Amino acid sequence: MINKLIPDLQVDTIYDIVLADLWKEGIRGIITDLDNTLVGAKVPLATPELIQWLKHLQSLGFKVVIVSNNNESRVGNFARPLNIPFIHRARKPANQAFHRAMSIMELKTEHVAVIGDQMLTDVLGGNRMGLFTILVKPISLMDEGFFTRINRKVEKAARVFIKK
Ligand SMILES: [Mg+2]
Repeated sequence: MINKLIPDLQVDTIYDIVLADLWKEGIRGIITDLDNTLVGAKVPLATPELIQWLKHLQSLGFKVVIVSNNNESRVGNFARPLNIPFIHRARKPANQAFHRAMSIMELKTEHVAVIGDQMLTDVLGGNRMGLFTILVKPISLMDEGFFTRINRKVEKAARVFIKK
């Protein structure tokens, strides 16, 4: 399982992803996490910078779905103004939400990338599905919930293990 925690690509932020390279790899759709990937966990709406980035992404031809383990009000209030489809309470790393997102985009496994800040949900789930996985650094560790903080501890141990 430990190998499944290793992302295909690691970057600091979503803005460091070279979208042209993804396109060349055949990626046409992006499943993105919300909290601490697109904005901080306590930031209710998209920032102007993020809105620009999402527009750019779509203008290049990428499809996007927000897939979050958070609840309907958090994810819906964030995603609706952006006009981006979303799946809340996704229960990542479980497969189901990834499958649903792929069917929303009408794309197959080899054309979809997953972006997220957690190895145990975003990366593990994406890798098990055979998707291209991109790990970003969490935007803010300040406002995370109990389970996320436990996941961070496991991640830390996994990172030490992977380095060996
Ligand atoms: Mg997250």
